[in-house]
Amino acid sequence: MSTLEKLQTRCVIIGGGPAGMMAGYLLARAGVPVAVLEKHGDFNRDFRGDTIHPSTLELMHELGLLDEFLKQPHQEVRELRGVINGQTVPIADFTRLPTRCKFIAFMPQWDFLNFLSSHAKRFRTFQLLMQTEVVDLLIENERVIGVRAKTPRGEIELRADLVIGADGRHSTTHTRAGFKLHEFGVPIDVLWMRISKKQDDPEQSFGFFQHGKLLVLLDRGDYWQCGFVIPKGGFGEIKARGLPQFQNDIATFAGFLRDRVPELSDWSKIKLLTVQINRLRDWCREGLLCIGDAAHAMSPAGGVGINLAIQDAVATANLLAEKLRSGPVTVDDLRKVQARREWPTRLIQRVQVFIHHWAVTGRASGGRNSLPFVVRLLKWFPSLRQLPARFIGLGPRPEHFHSPTTV
Ligand SMILES: Cc1cc2nc3c(=O)[nH]c(=O)nc-3n(C[C@H](O)[C@H](O)[C@H](O)COP(=O)(O)OP(=O)(O)OC[C@H]3O[C@@H](n4cnc5c(N)ncnc54)[C@H](O)[C@@H]3O)c2cc1C
Repeated sequence: MSTLEKLQTRCVIIGGGPAGMMAGYLLARAGVPVAVLEKHGDFNRDFRGDTIHPSTLELMHELGLLDEFLKQPHQEVRELRGVINGQTVPIADFTRLPTRCKFIAFMPQWDFLNFLSSHAKRFRTFQLLMQTEVVDLLIENERVIGVRAKTPRGEIELRADLVIGADGRHSTTHTRAGFKLHEFGVPIDVLWMRISKKQDDPEQSFGFFQHGKLLVLLDRGDYWQCGFVIPKGGFGEIKARGLPQFQNDIATFAGFLRDRVPELSDWSKIKLLTVQINRLRDWCREGLLCIGDAAHAMSPAGGVGINLAIQDAVATANLLAEKLRSGPVTVDDLRKVQARREWPTRLIQRVQVFIHHWAVTGRASGGRNSLPFVVRLLKWFPSLRQLPARFIGLGPRPEHFHSPTTV
């Protein structure tokens, strides 16, 4: 019979996504002993977005990591354009943002997470346990005192003064904690697939809109990561129409892909990603705080979820690191994180719900050959393009790093 290994640290973070890795990095940097537990063996997963926003790049600068970060392979997008009913239109202009980097960096998320973890590992207070899946919370007298996790070596119990749930939109942490979740109906899902890229393909754009449908292409060097927005529950109908019809649909959006859509030769190459928007009523209880998608699942609309998750992590470190260095924090301390991050989250989720409605009712693509009024305004008045740039690039209430540093 295998024995249960018991370990102890100051802070356990469940999940090594953007929220968890950034919180782990910042807390370790502040001298807080921290262990990040990630259920996968690496960060190489397809379904993550790739956008690193100007506010995150500003943080990288504040942390002294920017120059090295920008040496990683990435694309810099200074203006987001959309292709609406065949017309290319400007949507957001980042060049006048009050930040050091006036662009969105598109970088595969695994490169971003590997970068962050390699820097975090330089702090002796940091531990990253891969292939470690949290299966339960340890609760004593109503206080969360740690986690139980499965590892290739058997089960472990890891006790801590604080557990941070950063385990994303399918979080088990908030379910185990008994938190109430408010679900917002989402009328869309996304089909996720790869198509190879050629050198003379056009530059990355915001997306291809056509009569209420949307195709997003993320440049991943030698291939396009494609996201095709479909009505929720509509995959069955798409399958029933057959693969050639689906290939043709994709080629109708982005004609330059027509010679390569046959690469989608099998339905197994097309993954259905369910989109959710939800938010916890309470993000914390004694000994536990949820951040990122675990506290508020974000839709891909606007590509802002990663940034928001990182902002939560920064606020967590800013508000808790000092106290956590010497011992536990109270639930009132944890509530300060929710109080700081809740309204930006609410605002962004409200905009995402609006975008979904706009997209499924077909208003995002205007009439058959016309552009929606808002898009026409952006075309006529270039200075207006700074507004979406601010919302997407910085977000409401951008956080700045001011937790303590021990290095
Ligand atoms: C189809 C789609 C496309 C998107 N595209 C974009 C985009 O382009 N730009 C953008 O900004 N946002 C995008 N988003 C939203 C974005 O992915 C999320 O908002 C963001 O990833 C949230 O980060 P997170 O760290 O909170 O959670 P996640 O990125 O989900 O990370 C959670 C981590 O926890 C781990 N984990 C889960 N359970 C456990 C467990 N029990 N034990 C241990 N580890 C666990 C997971 O393996 C994962 O690594 C997209 C979302 C969807 C659905």
